[in-house]
Amino acid sequence: MPMMTAAQYEESLRDLNLVVYMFGKQLDNVVDDPIIRPSMQAVAKTYELAHRPEHDDIMTATSHITGKKINRFTHIHQNIDDLVKKSKMGRLLGRETGCCFQRCVGMDALNALSIVTYNMDHQLGTQYNSRFLKYLEYVQENDLTCDGAMTDPKGDRSLPPHKQPDPDLYLHVVEEKANGIIVRGAKAHQTGAVNSHEIIVMPTIAMRKEDQDYAVSFALPADAEGITYIMGRQSCDTRKLEEGLLDRGNILFGGHEALVVLDDVFVPWERVFMYKEYEFAGQLVEKFAAYHRQSYACKVGVGDVLIGASQTAAEYNNVAGASHIKDKLIEMNHLNETLYCGCIACASEGSKEPSGTYSVNTLLANIHKQNVTRFPYEISRIAQDIAGGLMVTMPSEMDLTAPATGKWLEKYFTANCDVPALNRMRILRLIENLTLGTAAVGYLTESMHGAGSPQAQRIMISRLANMKEKQRAAKKLCGIETDDRKQTTADR
Ligand code: SF4
Ligand code: FE
Repeated sequence: MPMMTAAQYEESLRDLNLVVYMFGKQLDNVVDDPIIRPSMQAVAKTYELAHRPEHDDIMTATSHITGKKINRFTHIHQNIDDLVKKSKMGRLLGRETGCCFQRCVGMDALNALSIVTYNMDHQLGTQYNSRFLKYLEYVQENDLTCDGAMTDPKGDRSLPPHKQPDPDLYLHVVEEKANGIIVRGAKAHQTGAVNSHEIIVMPTIAMRKEDQDYAVSFALPADAEGITYIMGRQSCDTRKLEEGLLDRGNILFGGHEALVVLDDVFVPWERVFMYKEYEFAGQLVEKFAAYHRQSYACKVGVGDVLIGASQTAAEYNNVAGASHIKDKLIEMNHLNETLYCGCIACASEGSKEPSGTYSVNTLLANIHKQNVTRFPYEISRIAQDIAGGLMVTMPSEMDLTAPATGKWLEKYFTANCDVPALNRMRILRLIENLTLGTAAVGYLTESMHGAGSPQAQRIMISRLANMKEKQRAAKKLCGIETDDRKQTTADR
């Protein structure tokens, strides 16, 4: 089954036996849980669009291992065109779901591992790449969603993994067996974890020899024995438990994050892709981070939704013709398309790794993500400006449908006589959802901290910007010799 339909994806999740806790209780039925289901529907969109002829070029690819048509989320980028299409796919899905659709982390983990397992084998004589390619074929053949699990809880930030008072604050190997390893630890903020078939674990930082037990990468079925998922809350999440849909804002989709605890979990050797090769932990982190920073093309698509909602709110308020409103919408588009430039640029400037995988331009991917930590906040500020205060003072849908109060809401919330108050309330709730509610986790906080917090990108920018070349260009133009020897009057 190289490409599942959305319905098949949903059914495949029902076969999993995940241990998931939320609000202090274990869930019997994850797929139909009203708080989690919208996030499952967002991932399902990645399956649905792959079967639509109009999106075929963006959403599907040809496997470099089997030659079969596969979902692009399981593909290893074979050229620049693949990288550019990945960025376009992110924008498309962000626009179609208005939230985090979660499947990128697994795609980015697969691509990073395709590069680093090859490099390890080449330099150390290990056998990881063939093992990885076998696993990749399994993922592609079954069209699986993978949780790319990188972020450890990290405990005391001033201490390396081996010096933490609690050794489990970074995930590590606790025992080596003839047929595999036992691991213990946790991965935090795991996007889409309970909608995934597989979990791909990677180290979270570069490591030294003393941390070698923490330099481990592997894949497990999401329901492997010893894995527990604890769902994270989102602002306004319990609105999904209320009667009616309007107050959710986005009535179809959402995202989720979870804390994933691995309590002495067994990993067979055939699923281990790094085992104590601490010198390569940093490379794996960097490759994954660069790909995932590119993946923040998703926010451009969510930005499209917010801009569309703002234009609609302006029309419903009958102010769309005002010059300052037009200018605000221009500013929103300017910021959003600037983000698009970044994710297309880092893809277009990508290059071939020794493994054959194409990787993005790391400097430009970091610049793009740094912009993502800022622009969605400004776009949201303008959206809230256009929406007006009613967005947060509006009564509930239940008041709209109650006979005693509904007539007053209909009467006093009508701004444009051609537009029912109901529609005005709907669009304002969508803006609220994107900038303050459940989707604000995806559009704002994830923009800030996902794929690394702003400082992580600034460190990479300082490492990768070619300052010597910039200085050379400047000095040459004003007559300073490049060797910088002390010039005397006689030199002039
Ligand atoms: Fe993908 Fe964006 Fe969600 Fe990250 S935040 S998983 S890049 S949709
Ligand atoms: Fe993310």
